[in-house]
Order: sequence, then C-alpha cells, then structure tokens
Amino acid sequence: MLRRHNESLILSALYHDGPMSRVELGPLTGLGPAAISQLVSGLRRSRLVREAGQVASSGGRPRVLLEIDPDFGYLAGVDLTGDSVAWGLFDLTMRPVDMLRRKLRSGFTDVGGLARELTSGLRELLNSADVREPDLLGMGIGLPKTVTAPSLAEEWSPDRLKPLTGLEIPVFVGRGVNNQALAESRFGAGRGFERVIVVEIGAGADAALVVDGHVERICEWGHTTLDFGGRPCHCGSRGCVEAYVGVRGILQRYHESCGLQPPSRGKESAKLSALLRSTANSRPAAVLVRETVGYLGAALGNLISVFTPSKVILTGWAGLLLGKRFMTDIRKVVAGHTPQHVYRHTSVELGGAGPRAAMIGAAALTVEALLGRGADPRGEAE
Ligand SMILES: [Zn+2]
Repeated sequence: MLRRHNESLILSALYHDGPMSRVELGPLTGLGPAAISQLVSGLRRSRLVREAGQVASSGGRPRVLLEIDPDFGYLAGVDLTGDSVAWGLFDLTMRPVDMLRRKLRSGFTDVGGLARELTSGLRELLNSADVREPDLLGMGIGLPKTVTAPSLAEEWSPDRLKPLTGLEIPVFVGRGVNNQALAESRFGAGRGFERVIVVEIGAGADAALVVDGHVERICEWGHTTLDFGGRPCHCGSRGCVEAYVGVRGILQRYHESCGLQPPSRGKESAKLSALLRSTANSRPAAVLVRETVGYLGAALGNLISVFTPSKVILTGWAGLLLGKRFMTDIRKVVAGHTPQHVYRHTSVELGGAGPRAAMIGAAALTVEALLGRGADPRGEAE
C-alpha cells in the first residue's frame, strides 16, 4: 500500500510538472533519493515512465529527465449533452488522437440503449484511429445535469453502467460541469490556481469549484434567485439565474420582448449565434443581449462574493459564445456587483480548454484514477 502511495506521488509530479530529474522529484514528493530511484525503476519496467533526454547539472554528471510515457495507453472521453454525444480519443498525456460526434438515438431514461450506443461509437472511433480495445485504459463519461438528479443518479452509476456497455475497461462517470472544471484546472485557464470556479453556460447554467485540484459541484447555483418574484423557472421556483442566462431562458425572453410565440426546442446554438449577430441592426436584440450580460455579470458577482475564488472561468458552448464577444462588459458588471476588496483578488476569464473541455475532462477521469492509484487503472485492486 505504501509503495502504491509513493508511486502515486511520483506519477502525479511527473504528470503535472514533468519532465524532471530524479533530484527534482525529491522536494515535490518528499521522498529520499534511494526510494525515488527504486520506485522509478519499477515504473519504468511497467512502462508508465520513460527517459526524456538529459540536462546539464551544476558540477557532476548530466541528469536524466523522466516523463510519463504517452504511449502507455489511450483514454476515451465521452460528452453527453441533451441530444448529441461526442467521443474523444487521447493518448495518456491528453494529446487528441481522433473524435466522433453523433445525434443521440436513445433517451436518458433508456440507460441500456444509451450504453450500447456509447460502446458502438467508441468501437467505431477505435477502428478509425487504428487503436486496439485492449490498449484503452478507461472510458470517462460526462452527463448533463438533468441526468444527475437523484432520481437518475443511481442508474447512471459506473457499477450499473459498465456491465451494460459490455466493455472490459474501467468506466467512470462525472457531471458535465465537474468534468469541465477538471479540464480547465488541469489543462486550461485554471492551471496553477488554488481556488477556481468554472461556470458552464449552455441550455442552462451550472458551476463547479476546484480547490487544490479537488473538484466539487456547486449544487444549484443555476437556481439561486437573481430577481425576487421574477420569471418562472422550470425548477418550480422564480427568478432563477438559469431563467435569465441559460440559453433557453435567453431565447424565451427575446421572443417575449418581440411579442412572438415561445421558441421551439432544439438548434439553440444556431439561434443564440443569430441573436448575437443581429444586435448591430435590431434594437430589441441589442437590449436583450445587454440585459443578459448584466444578469450574467451579477450572477458571477454573487458566486465570487460567496466563494472568493482566485479565478472564475466562463465556459460551456453558450458561455464561450457570450464571453468571446462581451467579456469586457461582463467584467465591468462583475466589478460593479462584487465588494471591491473581494473583486481585487479575482479575475474572470474565458475557458482555455476550448469547446471540447467536457470531453477532455471526461477522459481525464481515467488519468485521475491512474494517478490516485499509482498504477494502471485496469489492474486488480490491491
Ligand atoms: Zn430554477
């Protein structure tokens, strides 16, 4: 057990901060030179770690650099949204290999049908990338927040899901926003920051907090009240954040302001893009978008006041669309709705892991398992 723990320390240091020499591993792991030497030999024999050239050292012999071997195995990350699914294949250091996107045929209540769809897409992706199934270390799945409600959470647990997929590899399941937070804190705009909030704006609104690399969902930020007695929300409450800044809420408000019928469901991404483009020559669109930026900034300000993060990262497909055009305005509103002594220590940034952040985060669930265990996640538990 102790050996595994120490291997976990070495692998984590090399994964997040490598390549580095055996000497540099000392202060990062708290292990002595003899232990490091012995553990590294074992990790090289199991092919998780490889040599990565040499660097000159002050006096003495050049030092050999060590790194995680990207070819040890592959990772699959699956991002399930309301009506589509995307599979991504990565090497162990999260370099993308190939991806595939499809419309979903099964609904979220048909867990068996959906599990079979996930497996068939994964096998198609492996085929096209010429990767063998036994070379896959695990599959991580990101679920939309509607599916992680308590009524469905048990059916979507990894233990229930794995037998339904028919796969021999470990299966991990995480909430979409948590996976985005994992991707941003490990590989994106949150890297190196101690306390980060990742805000996902899509059809709805959700947030997760990362403290010292540990991800926790902020339960129902999307359903905290932004406007007392305001718009009815699908959750049964009124005036929720989601009813103003989630894309369904934005489109509904726009249709109401123009005296139109409620918008039809679907194609929300295209509808939001069209709305944002029309602000230059449509006054109702310009007013609606200005109000939306205001609601979003005020809601982010509330999050910052409660959790005092060093960074807030705006992500999700709609968050990225809004943030790319209006980040300066969003920041101004946040500054005006957060106590100055709190705002001074934070910043609001656009996600750096890109629109595939949820897929990267899902694939990273297997990496977390490997680093936590200090060994191949497919092996028997010790
Ligand atoms: Zn609500």
